[in-house]
Amino acid sequence: MAFLKKFLPKKVIRCTNCNTRFKFPVKPGKKLNVKCPNCSTQYVVSFVNPIMQLVKGQLNWNTLSKIEKRKLIILLLTLLASLGLIFSSFKQPIKPNSDQISIIGSNAI
Ligand SMILES: [Zn+2]
Repeated sequence: MAFLKKFLPKKVIRCTNCNTRFKFPVKPGKKLNVKCPNCSTQYVVSFVNPIMQLVKGQLNWNTLSKIEKRKLIILLLTLLASLGLIFSSFKQPIKPNSDQISIIGSNAI
């Protein structure tokens, strides 16, 4: 089953110190300490979803920076907007507008 390892999600990072590109495994919901194999510079990579953390109460809204807050708000708004679109399309099936066609027809006569 070794070939399955090829399909494990991996992310490529470029070291800001020596420009070496290296891969590391993706671990959803976790924080990773990644070390550059060339110059040993350490990076902290976070796969933690901030919205999930907010929902779980693990993330304090007040500790977020302005940029992080803005990102989260945009993310939530797009999520709500797409959800709204999905629900409204369920409620109102798209129908051909027959009223307008009859009005145009009566004007022509
Ligand atoms: Zn490096």
